[in-house]
Amino acid sequence: MNDPAHQPRPARAQSLQAAQPAHMPLVLVIEDEEPIRRFLRATLEANHYRVKEAGTAREGTLLAVTTYPDVILLDLGLPDNDGLNVTRSIRKESRTPIVVLSARGQESDKVAALDAGADDYLTKPFGVGELLARLRVALRHSSTAPGPDAGRGTELAPYQTTLGGRTLRIDLSARLVHVTDAAPGQAGAERREARLTPMEFKLLAFLVRHAGKVLTHQMILKEVWGPQHASDVQYLRVYAGELRKKLEVDPAQPRFIVTEPGVGYRLAEANR
Ligand code: CA
Repeated sequence: MNDPAHQPRPARAQSLQAAQPAHMPLVLVIEDEEPIRRFLRATLEANHYRVKEAGTAREGTLLAVTTYPDVILLDLGLPDNDGLNVTRSIRKESRTPIVVLSARGQESDKVAALDAGADDYLTKPFGVGELLARLRVALRHSSTAPGPDAGRGTELAPYQTTLGGRTLRIDLSARLVHVTDAAPGQAGAERREARLTPMEFKLLAFLVRHAGKVLTHQMILKEVWGPQHASDVQYLRVYAGELRKKLEVDPAQPRFIVTEPGVGYRLAEANR
């Protein structure tokens, strides 16, 4: 057992530590279709996640509060209860991020699940890249997972993202929004301040706090305009349109403030 050939090699151990998160996040998959569970398990394990599985709403709700997952993947169409009720029961006990999986044609269920406290959704069939991206966002927003961003004071760090040659920088604490064409620091980069009305700023600030996550019309309206305006989707369309005119290269083909059809909006994730 003391054979030096079996001693861990420090250099190798160090490089592994650098490449992998210190903590392998646990994903709870609540899904009744076995082939999809198998696919999810294989994909997630290959990408350094740990996986627990449940095939029913009942078992899933139990595991959600007893195994302390870092994120939950929840199918909306379960045999014994619907995903909406599962979301509500889990939310009574836990803040763990929930990403719902839904089939096409379940749009109203999807919206209701988000309004009930789910964090994001994936429409089946989905690609591996999209699945992993949604999980990364969910984990970044999780208050329970000590990810690499933990304790960085993300609330105050300015949001910055570059898409299609334009950089959008939003400093919430300074209330400043800047648009730069060509990457910042490059020759020819021109930076200008986008002047927003107080309501436009309030809407943008809410999107920034949840960047990368889908927000339903109802969530945004309640938060920005107040509960009495929860169904005034037209307000939101007008203000989102004004923001796009000020921030997007082409307001008709938005890349920063993206529409989630029938659901709401998603601000592109910060990528600096
Ligand atoms: Ca199902």
